Amino acid sequence: MPAIHNNFPAADLACPCCGELKIDARLMKGLERLLELAGTAVIVREAYRCATRQQEVGAVSDSAHTQGLAADVRIVGRTLQQMYELAVQVPEFNQGGIGVYDGGFIHVDVRSYSARWARVRGQYVWASST
Ligand SMILES: [Zn+2]
Repeated sequence: MPAIHNNFPAADLACPCCGELKIDARLMKGLERLLELAGTAVIVREAYRCATRQQEVGAVSDSAHTQGLAADVRIVGRTLQQMYELAVQVPEFNQGGIGVYDGGFIHVDVRSYSARWARVRGQYVWASST
């Protein structure tokens, strides 16, 4: 099991269905930077997902979540716009994926290319990757 910083409890990062945990070190670094920039609590809703959990949430099978590269987070007291603007200031996420969800959270990941998207009522309303 990778070293987990106290700011992000292992239970929040582990798969919700089975407790399995795989988290990339770059993701942890990015989350720490996001926390520093935010100056307020950054709450991980979901990070690692096993294949079973990934199917349950109906997401694409190669999602960064199943590789331990992604986290869905909420930043306390910040709007979605503010959360996005904080995330793009984190190099690990700016070079990777940032998605905005109308459920009041953002997805951040450390994939190998830049991707951005917005999802409203379960639909992608905008997406871009380079
Ligand atoms: Zn699981």
